[in-house]
Amino acid sequence: MQETITGSGQLKINGEPMNISFTVPKGLCLPEALLPDAQRFANQLTDVAVARVERSGHRISCAKGCGACCRQMVPISPPEARHLAALVEAMPAAQAGEVRARFKSAREVVVASGLPPHGPAEGDQAAYRAFGISYFGLGVPCPFLVEESCSIHPDRPLVCREYLVTSPPAACGALGSGQVKQIPVPSRVWAVFSRSTSEDGGLAWMPLIEALDYVAETPAPEPVRTGPQYVEALLKELKK
Ligand code: SF4
Repeated sequence: MQETITGSGQLKINGEPMNISFTVPKGLCLPEALLPDAQRFANQLTDVAVARVERSGHRISCAKGCGACCRQMVPISPPEARHLAALVEAMPAAQAGEVRARFKSAREVVVASGLPPHGPAEGDQAAYRAFGISYFGLGVPCPFLVEESCSIHPDRPLVCREYLVTSPPAACGALGSGQVKQIPVPSRVWAVFSRSTSEDGGLAWMPLIEALDYVAETPAPEPVRTGPQYVEALLKELKK
């Protein structure tokens, strides 16, 4: 068992004071060690955003059983891919088999459509948006969507935690029409996490449906940074 270290403090993010704490390995580790704290942090920021929206008289329309947004392309970072792959690996064999089959068929639909399953080149925002809309048009459910609910809710990716809307549920079925009113969050933790854990400081991501293939084909890197170094990088990235 690796020795851990805890640090806490207060941050102001977009004018919002926030108490944060991180418990991470003291020594060298892989960036996924930071994920539980990053998930909690994303939840905190989303709570702040929801409170702000509700104070202005609006209501979040997302509800259990509405999986419309779970047919969108879900961007995740490599450490999140490894986390999801480990989650599938730890499932009972029958459940893991079903999830793997859903990953496979989702990927096959995307490949058959002519879209690159790994997404467009990094940094091209227009291509990213166009890819997202075309992907949604395929109607491919997330492999973790079961009976229109997230089957891995406590472990869902960072970006899923940050996506809430105030528009009517029907609007989510018309992505790209301008009808979806997504609530603004003070900071996009998924992108901050991705940039701060990427070795070259860039935004490293893949569509969620690539996660299992990516992990099977890409050996996990050697740990090169300590837990506190990852926290420092994340806090630095947040301030940008
Ligand atoms: S991980 Fe869960 S919340 Fe995220 S898209 Fe998949 S089913 Fe939906």
